[in-house]
Amino acid sequence: MSRRVLDYFMELVQIDSESLCEGAIALWLKTELERLGAEVYIDKAGEITGGEIGNVIGWLPGNPDLEPLFLCAHMDTVQPGRGVKPIIDGAIIRSESNTILGADDKGGIAMILAVLDEYRESGAEHAPLEIVFTVSEEIGLLGAKALELSRLKSKRGYVLDGNKIGEVVKASPNQADWKAIIRGKSAHAGVEPEKGNNAIRAAAAAILAIQDGRIDDETTMNCGKICGGIATNIVCDEVKIFGEIRSHNENKLTNLGEEVKKQFLATAREYKCTLEFDLNSSFQSTRIDENDELVKLSEQAFERAGITQKLVVNGGGSDANVFSRKGLQAIVVGMGMQKIHSINEYILVDDLKRSKVWLKNVIDLWSRK
Ligand SMILES: [Zn+2]
Repeated sequence: MSRRVLDYFMELVQIDSESLCEGAIALWLKTELERLGAEVYIDKAGEITGGEIGNVIGWLPGNPDLEPLFLCAHMDTVQPGRGVKPIIDGAIIRSESNTILGADDKGGIAMILAVLDEYRESGAEHAPLEIVFTVSEEIGLLGAKALELSRLKSKRGYVLDGNKIGEVVKASPNQADWKAIIRGKSAHAGVEPEKGNNAIRAAAAAILAIQDGRIDDETTMNCGKICGGIATNIVCDEVKIFGEIRSHNENKLTNLGEEVKKQFLATAREYKCTLEFDLNSSFQSTRIDENDELVKLSEQAFERAGITQKLVVNGGGSDANVFSRKGLQAIVVGMGMQKIHSINEYILVDDLKRSKVWLKNVIDLWSRK
């Protein structure tokens, strides 16, 4: 008997795998993929990301006359993701206590394993399949960025992640992180405050002067973290501010980054402070052609599972953003996880099963084209 997708899912979410701590799940998956007939390699991405382990790459041989297809899902989860206790609560699976569930993205992993197990059991012919389980997707797509691309034999495939069931991402934005360090001058706050320049005041003024939130229909900005100051009796001499910009238009992102820098610089000077500013591209946008073969194949596979495919614009990034810039063609398909990145995360039992059927259909269709 092949293992049902539900069994895989319940077991996987109970293996802790917050970003950078994917050692246990990676080794579990290596063993399982080998049982399913794949050759498995763990790359060196962990050494680059500073995590416990690298990406798990599995190669399941198939008909050598057919083009191989890659299937990708990420192994890491956001926090709080330790000690997850999943429960089936009527039609849904959720976590029992105050943790995320981890359906993002163990739903994707469970579906892949369940389908491979079905092929192992039936012995049905299929195209060669390449399985890519990445590390540290949630903290900036680090695993995908560090992936040893030369190891991959396939050029096209699917990233199973996020979104509602049936949703295929047709466009996702560029994203860049920025960091501003404002330096003033410390002084005793009671004895000689006039000798100091308060970096907190400069930071406050600069933050209020820049735009925030939804900038236009394709651009957002968020000032997300601030730290600085030592004690109430010291004029603060250093504040660090962290933010991000996303836009489907790369020029807009660059221009907005320049604007933020200019504003911070002007305000820092006004407050007799100095500025250090960095803008770093985290990932670049993706855009797919609606008539692309992978999109059409996915649509057919959903149809056969009784689901209508929907093309959506995504505000977030995924491993596909990195792959597509590296010359691979990757389509992101939603597997039905809901309220991800929160302790209210859940997935419908039925969506888990229907997504698995979709994946089986995709591989069947791909292997017969
Ligand atoms: Zn995800």
